[in-house]
Amino acid sequence: MSVLTIARDGDIAVVTVDNPPVNALSQALRQALWDAVAAVDADPEVRAAVLTCAGRTFIAGGDVTEFGRPPQEPHLPDLVDRIEGAAKPWIAAIHGSALGGGFEVAMGCRFRIALDSASVGLPEVNLGIVPGASGTVRTPRLAGVAAAVDLVTSGRPVRAAKALGLGLVDAVAPDDLPGNAIAFAREALGRDRPPPVSARPVEAPDAAFWEERRAAVAKAAKGADAPLRALDCLRKAAEAPFAEAMAHERQTFLDLRGSDQAAALRHVFFAERAAPRPAHLRDVDPLPLRRAGVIGGGTMGAGIAAALRDAGIPVTLIERDDDAAARGLATLRGMFDGAVKRGTLSDAQAADRMAGVTATTDHAALSDADLVIEAVFEDIAVKRAVFERLAAACRADAVLATNTSYLDPRLIAKGVPHPDRFIGLHFFSPANVMRLVEIVPVPETSGRTLATGFALARALNKIPVQSGICEGFIGNRILKRYRASAEALVRQGIPLAEIDAAMRGYGLAMGPFQAQDLGGLDIAFLQREGARAAGQDVPETLGDILVRAGRKGQKTGGGWYDYAPGDRSPQPSAAVADLLAGRITGTLAMDRDAIARRLVADMAAEGQAILDEGIAASPAEIDLVEIHGYGFPRWRGGPMFAARHRPTNDLAS
Ligand code: NAD
Repeated sequence: MSVLTIARDGDIAVVTVDNPPVNALSQALRQALWDAVAAVDADPEVRAAVLTCAGRTFIAGGDVTEFGRPPQEPHLPDLVDRIEGAAKPWIAAIHGSALGGGFEVAMGCRFRIALDSASVGLPEVNLGIVPGASGTVRTPRLAGVAAAVDLVTSGRPVRAAKALGLGLVDAVAPDDLPGNAIAFAREALGRDRPPPVSARPVEAPDAAFWEERRAAVAKAAKGADAPLRALDCLRKAAEAPFAEAMAHERQTFLDLRGSDQAAALRHVFFAERAAPRPAHLRDVDPLPLRRAGVIGGGTMGAGIAAALRDAGIPVTLIERDDDAAARGLATLRGMFDGAVKRGTLSDAQAADRMAGVTATTDHAALSDADLVIEAVFEDIAVKRAVFERLAAACRADAVLATNTSYLDPRLIAKGVPHPDRFIGLHFFSPANVMRLVEIVPVPETSGRTLATGFALARALNKIPVQSGICEGFIGNRILKRYRASAEALVRQGIPLAEIDAAMRGYGLAMGPFQAQDLGGLDIAFLQREGARAAGQDVPETLGDILVRAGRKGQKTGGGWYDYAPGDRSPQPSAAVADLLAGRITGTLAMDRDAIARRLVADMAAEGQAILDEGIAASPAEIDLVEIHGYGFPRWRGGPMFAARHRPTNDLAS
């Protein structure tokens, strides 16, 4: 089947790309577009060409199957030049998304018209590269340097209305894109033609602009190279002639394509693409999700309810008394009000979110729920009592899920009638923000229930990872090992502030000790105490010593560090030095790179044990858990990837 057809509407050629699913710029499509330029130019009846796409989107980018391979002719920059240099003007008619190479092709056209639901963008930095076909050079000529810097260094697409305001597109159509594009072309033929984008002037900002942007981009990039390299390309585009800037962009693109960071980001990209639809559930239909229940309106329950409402699913929130129900609702309202303040939600949307929530103490309100997620106290007796009530109140086919972090879901499921509908859905806090959900089937869980867990994750735009049952599932088990390894280094004489600095240097927002101070040391302590009470041999940790001395973290004014009232910045603590003095027995010296390598290697070793036990299906899924649940830097690819691909140059300070 041909990837491109050319039809005629009077004196306008309509060039239609048809390369499902997303009209990616495969070699075959590049060649077909290359040939189409000649065909249009050769047709004496034609005066202009409208470039449009079949299916759900305009050209949405490069062909992922060609990622990481040597580029094949015709090269995209040459194709964009060829479209721009055609004797007849081309008009890009954009619906869906024009991303990456797709938007670069559109910039080769003389005009761009977009459906108002469309978006355009240059997301290459998310894959560790820069646009490779003039994205950094033509964009500032269309929209000015400041807008181009935002678009290219963030990788975030913009909607049509904004794109129009920025000059990235020339017109927006409410409907009938081909018809409007053809009318636009005819009208444009009657006017003076603007110069091709490459020939348009660009106003170079002063050095202060670049300094300020460099600082901002570096801060947001958190160690990723591509956004800063993209900024260099944009500066070149502003200050050097077109051809020189193009050569610089191409060289940067080729350098980065073979980099460790790009390899890591491609690994994450493919893992994220695969995660929502695991192969073993391909033929299993999920149950419909029309109404959901959430039990417990605390930190997690409110967050889960918010996530459900963001996905448009009506929610019944059950609490143990009216006051707690009111508190749950107030927490939810606070979340949506916060979103309004940040400008991510309108007042009307926030009101609609709240209108879809009913808070009550009456379990009978769950009689028509398709799915109920329990998020009450982490206490087996409380949870089992909840599931007993759910069994009585819910339909026999309603999926019943627990959000437990550490309890054994098999014990919670015990006695639940129709246990094939029981499952663990482990969300992360804040549940309406964090994208990871660990999906934990018990032995009785049916394929359908499991598939419904994944369908829920898709509806909520989350990253689902299936986990077998072990203490802490995948993520918290690795977290425990990571913390234990960090404590072991402290015992050997490495200052804890050095360990935190090493992990920040590696790309995490916080080191292990700072993070514990933020979350509180007491939860893990109580768990260890519980295990000790149950007769398990759990050796004393340094954290135990701190908690016993009343140091539970920021909430008690101090944990591993001291905190001045109202100030979250960690200060070295003489009290902690005293408390731990007798436990620090070593005089080990390690530089920060070595510290980070050691801790990541230990995380990966735990990950390997998890794989060996069949708790996780693949190293890539473990990497997703760490990236989306624990702030592991995406551009490192996750601990499993990082441990397997020992980069040679990425730990240099
Ligand atoms: P929380 O104390 O903030 O909230 C628990 C809520 O459950 C309270 O509002 C309480 O009133 C309500 N509740 C208690 N018994 C109830 C009952 N019988 N019926 C209805 N409501 C009842 O706790 P949380 O942090 O939201 O944790 C809830 C669950 O989520 C726990 O199992 C926890 O392990 C798990 N979890 C917590 C986090 C986290 O970071 N906080 C992350 C993942 C999972």
